[in-house]
Amino acid sequence: MKLFKDLTAEAKAAWFTAHNEPAFRQKQIDEWLYKRWVMSFAEMTNLPKGLREALEADFLAFALVPAGMRQASDGTKKYLFQLGDCETIEGVLIPSPRRDTVCISTQVGCPVRCAFCASGAGGLVRNLTASEIVDQVIFSCRELKERVNNIVVMGMGEPLLNLDNLLTALDTICDPDKLGFGQRHITVSTSGIVPGIRKLAESERQWNLALSLHASTDETRAKLIPKENRYPLVDILDACREYREMAGRMVTFEYALIRGMNDTHAEIAGLARLARDCRAKVNIIPYNSTGRGKFSAPDRAGVQRIVDELVKQGIQVAVRKEMGADIQAACGQLRRQTMGLPPESVENEE
Ligand code: SF4
Repeated sequence: MKLFKDLTAEAKAAWFTAHNEPAFRQKQIDEWLYKRWVMSFAEMTNLPKGLREALEADFLAFALVPAGMRQASDGTKKYLFQLGDCETIEGVLIPSPRRDTVCISTQVGCPVRCAFCASGAGGLVRNLTASEIVDQVIFSCRELKERVNNIVVMGMGEPLLNLDNLLTALDTICDPDKLGFGQRHITVSTSGIVPGIRKLAESERQWNLALSLHASTDETRAKLIPKENRYPLVDILDACREYREMAGRMVTFEYALIRGMNDTHAEIAGLARLARDCRAKVNIIPYNSTGRGKFSAPDRAGVQRIVDELVKQGIQVAVRKEMGADIQAACGQLRRQTMGLPPESVENEE
């Protein structure tokens, strides 16, 4: 069945005309969908019963069916959602005293297939529609009973390889008549899809950009990211500089720290150099191991040594706390476990 939020304005108008309903009904429905976060037309009590039934017969008001949840000891909640075609995606809600953050997915699976990532292990199944992206945010607001403060597009999938639907979704999320989020409360992450970064820069929005850098040389990146969707670092960094200038937003480098892979003195010196060149902040993320994969994070002292080294070089650095490690909160792990698959299975070759 069609998702109501994915209809174009023209298709909605045609449906209301065909059902002899006045145009103002659309505004009433938007109010329920985007301001009161309802999941069904039946809840729209100020609409005539006949209209509610006609809408229910033709459309779905909400794209996701919650299919599982795990809560970690730190309060992080990981959700598994079933979509209309029975595919599944994950979303993570990270509460904190300062701000609540939701991490949303943009694809079922991921075509990039990074070696350390459970989401990419099975490749791409399909892109999410705009409403499947938006409804992850609405679901989080419902769960919290208030608006989340912060949205990070860092779940399953490479957001910039589903750019058209992502732009439509984020425009809905930021539309004052819909969810009304400030652009600066949204961070879009990418593994470094150069045409996508350029297109995002040209879109003249002010979302934050996070580059999953993970290595400071093309050689080391080649061990982590298969060549099909990997761009040369020099081009990625050019595109990031362009983004910073056009969007007026600082870029963040995300760096999943993997023992023996990208934690050497040379790699970290390279990271400092790239961050300086790009005037980027660095987020160090000690690798969120499942205990069954082939990668692991350096120990606490090793992480601190790297942070000290970056700070000494004048880099603004933060260590991202490993949220929800006890519930497989790294992207794609819960979905794969539910499907009975191992957490990582990709072996990259140059
Ligand atoms: S880390 Fe991101 S880009 Fe890489 S496979 Fe996972 S979801 Fe895709």
